[in-house]
Amino acid sequence: MTEINDRKPEGLPDVIRHYIDGQSVDSVDGDTFDVLDPVTNQPYIEAASGKTADVDKAVAAAKAAFESGVWSQALPRERSRVLHKIADIMETRGDQLAAMECFDTGLPIKQAKGQAARAAENFRFFADLIVAQHDDTFKVPGRQINYVNRKPIGVAGLITPWNTPFMLESWKLAPAIATGNSVVLKPAEFTPLSASLWPGIFEEAGLPKGVFNMVHGFGEEGFAGDPLVKHPDVPLISFTGESRTGQIIFGNAAPHLKGLSMELGGKSPAVVFADADLDAAIDATIFGVFSLNGERCTAGSRILVAREVYDEFVERYAAQASRVKVGMPNDETTEVGAIVHPEHFEKVMSYVEIGKSEARLVAGGGRPEGFPEGNFVQPTVFADVAPDARIFQEEIFGPVVAITPFDSDEEALELANNTKYGLAAYIWTNDLKRAHNFAQNVEAGMVWLNSNNVRDLRTPFGGVKASGLGHEGGYRSIDFYTDQQAVHINL
Ligand code: NAD
Repeated sequence: MTEINDRKPEGLPDVIRHYIDGQSVDSVDGDTFDVLDPVTNQPYIEAASGKTADVDKAVAAAKAAFESGVWSQALPRERSRVLHKIADIMETRGDQLAAMECFDTGLPIKQAKGQAARAAENFRFFADLIVAQHDDTFKVPGRQINYVNRKPIGVAGLITPWNTPFMLESWKLAPAIATGNSVVLKPAEFTPLSASLWPGIFEEAGLPKGVFNMVHGFGEEGFAGDPLVKHPDVPLISFTGESRTGQIIFGNAAPHLKGLSMELGGKSPAVVFADADLDAAIDATIFGVFSLNGERCTAGSRILVAREVYDEFVERYAAQASRVKVGMPNDETTEVGAIVHPEHFEKVMSYVEIGKSEARLVAGGGRPEGFPEGNFVQPTVFADVAPDARIFQEEIFGPVVAITPFDSDEEALELANNTKYGLAAYIWTNDLKRAHNFAQNVEAGMVWLNSNNVRDLRTPFGGVKASGLGHEGGYRSIDFYTDQQAVHINL
């Protein structure tokens, strides 16, 4: 195990502060919390712990910036230029960003670099989209013209989780800012480090002060997330996180009738039919649950396999999972790094133990050899998992997968739909008709046929059932962050 000081990335701040009205500031009450290194679980930095007073200041700054019109009324082309500059700066700082993300989250460095590139792409994408934006106009000849006046809404509250934190923050920041809103970002408390890069990036790109504000801290009542959701001057909340937290936020936003976008949990099925290209299906389903340490909302964490190929699949899958390389997050060859935080590590390990009492363990099942401390988990595979098992039904959010056999297309569909979640589904078959019919009937916001997770940013992103409410992506994000006022003119 390398010492923490040997792994610390360059450019680490002395302390992680809020950013309000163009200034880095401590909490009004001076409170801080410890941030842990997931490799040793040693605290390595303190972060400001926001409360209502800090959120009030951030919202006031965002509101004043919005009302000044300097950004909210800027031409789309002017905003687009700033967003492109943001993307340029992010690209030049990609390695630093990835190093910070890897250190703070425990994600393998190679994958953190990919996420850094994607974060820059999010800004570039929305920079292009807003200048291409066009709205409906309807003419009733001789009678009326109707057109749509699209307006930014005001202050958007953005609340984000700890998995791929910087990338997920960019997925909300880019469209919210592109459309002319001001924002208050509340990053996840486990992983605040990479977010400390935002102020420098935005300042250098020329984003007017007060448009971007950030308050660190915990989510619950009495801390930073809760007062942001309840703030009367924040008409929009975009939240990504657990379904249970989404329910609480839904309730707290209800009295204010806020606009809500919710990207929530998942327990997505990967369905492998007997006619599938097994080599491709195995590679993809290994990647689907073990990349990003299994801390991926769209992880294919339940694999449903046709009985005809079940034994072969399980044997080959277990062998390949055993070869996935667990290692130090900053090692370029590492495929699974350290789980983000000891609390989450305990949760994942408890599911590994639950799995041992519910199903047949065929790979992993504990700590990897050579890693006596820190949050390291072997890629773990359970076979013969019954649909009522907890490891079939509940989101584990770690490198743990459940494999279940099926005997018919009908049973495969029933199993695929047999959880409260509905985020993603992956289908492996060479029968086109079967693939499209299954896609039509599976309860999932996103389906990948013989493919894995790669998507065009114009497509809708979101889940059904307990996996979410509303969709973001492409014009859907623009719709969420703007009002569409209809104007009618009699001729
Ligand atoms: P979480 O719900 O615990 O926390 C997410 C954020 O909400 C954090 O910033 C937290 O501080 C804040 N929060 C907590 N309670 C709050 C409250 N009462 N009011 C306001 N804010 C509050 O989620 P997590 O553990 O950080 O993230 C993992 C979860 O996120 C998983 O369930 C995963 O599937 C989900 N996720 C979903 C998507 C998606 O796009 N569907 C993407 C990534 C992660």
